[in-house]
Amino acid sequence: MKHKTIKIMITLLLCGVFFLTSCAPAAPVSGSLEAMDTFMNLTLYSDSESLEKLTSEIKRLDSLLSATDSESSVYKLNNNREIEGEGELADLLSETLRLCESTNGALDITVGQVVEAWGFISRDYRIPDSSELEGLLRNVDYHGVEVGENGRITLSEGTKIDLGAVAKGYAADRCTQLMDENGVESALLNLGGTVCARGVKPDGGQWKIGIADPSQPADYVGYFTCADKVVATSGSYERYFVGEDGRTYCHIINPADGYPSDNGIVSVTVISGSGLLSDALSTALFVMGEEKAEEYQKAHPDFDCIILTDKKEAIVSGGIADSFTLGSGSDYKIIRR
Ligand code: AMP
Ligand code: MG
Repeated sequence: MKHKTIKIMITLLLCGVFFLTSCAPAAPVSGSLEAMDTFMNLTLYSDSESLEKLTSEIKRLDSLLSATDSESSVYKLNNNREIEGEGELADLLSETLRLCESTNGALDITVGQVVEAWGFISRDYRIPDSSELEGLLRNVDYHGVEVGENGRITLSEGTKIDLGAVAKGYAADRCTQLMDENGVESALLNLGGTVCARGVKPDGGQWKIGIADPSQPADYVGYFTCADKVVATSGSYERYFVGEDGRTYCHIINPADGYPSDNGIVSVTVISGSGLLSDALSTALFVMGEEKAEEYQKAHPDFDCIILTDKKEAIVSGGIADSFTLGSGSDYKIIRR
């Protein structure tokens, strides 16, 4: 039990963001859970009933969206190539497909079989050869997912979906909706690297969120303040392995070539009012690389981002440039764009 608590605390530290709370006047209720292949921690300045509602909602979504749970709708869809009467999944897929399109396929929810081939699902890591990747890539194309009337979803032959890049963000949006309905005005939810900063702190101040240092994830590079935002981080340090060739391979795959993204970006944090958008774009901008990510952000100013590069640069977009501050002793250089 004690062991599990320590494991949860360490994992939350490695999840990319920190809550730098200065004081907490009202007594919060908090709870931890394991869902969506990560550890989550919920702190609500509210009652335990609301905490329970959020916890069961996250568990419900885990069962709906998991690609590995044989009872989930996503699993059934992947195996039967069609499913009906799944309005919520159909709506989520429609929105996610729009983001796949707008990011020009940098986000592609059909890349799961490639992720699996690298061992990121079984944790049995390996380097697939180029002909294996070529074969798998024939089935990577989000256009093979079709959402029709009455929650009918169909997949073209060979296509499978994996919502790992957006599920936590969608969970953050559902939690926000539940908090609206239950009058929860102040909360901080860490859904394993996707943080929902609800309202402001009970003392009226903004939430202070730290960005993990990819080379020492228990430490942070810098922090910023925000209110009513969902902050999602995708980092190469979250899941990776070192191959026999000595190279490091991370869990975010470039759908264009089937290889783990390796473009100098080590972490991307996206801050917006929508969990789905933040989560989808943290993954997509990571794949796009610095230049394309900046272009995309300029063309879509409904979010802010912080990109960390292997040259120890923290590239910060306009909307949070004033609030982002380097941590003491950080060897990163801020570049404001
Ligand atoms: P995130 O941590 O939100 O960046 O999501 C990463 C997870 O999404 C990975 O563990 C994979 O399961 C999946 N994934 C990896 N690369 C992509 C991609 N380019 N598009 C969509 N999903 C991806
Ligand atoms: Mg994501």
